[in-house]
Amino acid sequence: MNREAIRANLTAHLKYLSVTLGDRSVYRPENLQKAEDYVFGNFQEMGYAPRRQTFIYQRQEVSNVIAGDQSPGGYYILGAHFDTVAGTPGADDNASGVAVLLEVARLAQNKKPSRPWTFIGFTTEEPPAFFTPYMGSRVYAKRARKNREKILGMLCLEMVGYYRQEPGSQQLLFPLQFMGYPTTGNFIGMVSDRRSKPLLERLDRAVKQGCNLPTVTLAVPLGGYILPDVRLSDHANFWDEGYPAIMLTDTAYLRNPHYHGPGDVMENLDLEAMTELVLGLANFVGREGK
Ligand SMILES: [Zn+2]
Repeated sequence: MNREAIRANLTAHLKYLSVTLGDRSVYRPENLQKAEDYVFGNFQEMGYAPRRQTFIYQRQEVSNVIAGDQSPGGYYILGAHFDTVAGTPGADDNASGVAVLLEVARLAQNKKPSRPWTFIGFTTEEPPAFFTPYMGSRVYAKRARKNREKILGMLCLEMVGYYRQEPGSQQLLFPLQFMGYPTTGNFIGMVSDRRSKPLLERLDRAVKQGCNLPTVTLAVPLGGYILPDVRLSDHANFWDEGYPAIMLTDTAYLRNPHYHGPGDVMENLDLEAMTELVLGLANFVGREGK
């Protein structure tokens, strides 16, 4: 698939999730359901046999949507949450992550990865479920640990659509501004804990080889608690269960002024950069384990 086709598919996903649906929070159960169905339907069309992992949250049935291979010998996960906070169209947060998830899953169908890959749309990442046992990714990670599943690595797509080329467009968490990190917001950030550092290095290499998007990596010690902002998504639930995991992010509010607001619309997103990310991740999926 060429760049143009990927870009067209990304655009269609962003449009459906952020324009047709908009707010996909637990306060809009019909929209949350439609977002879930959209991920399910796309996986099905690609030739996967997706399944739902359903649980009850605030008297509603909510589900993670899971496609691909959970081999007992070990498998990798690429995941993105499909819900939003209330009152935002959620283009960057996180229609961007879902769109990239779907397109990497599509490319993986042709790549025949030599290790099993599982693609997951996570439900209820955002408040009020955030940091509770009802986060979709926490439900998944806890059950996986209980069933002694061997997760070789989990990649979390958490806001991957917002890029800027002007100097000074990137804010940095204390104390990173003193450590030589870039202040132009044109890169994809990759955050690991210390245990996930080998995975981070392999991912960074593959993304650099597979596409033209600049990358910046950060490995934080102590499960990320030393820099609590780096725990702000689904990957932290995998860290907490002892699995290697990495968050891929445009750094959210450190770059995007529309974070969690009504202005988080698809017009702000950089489709070219997102297309590059799809190609970089597809390169990793194709090569990992070889
Ligand atoms: Zn998010």
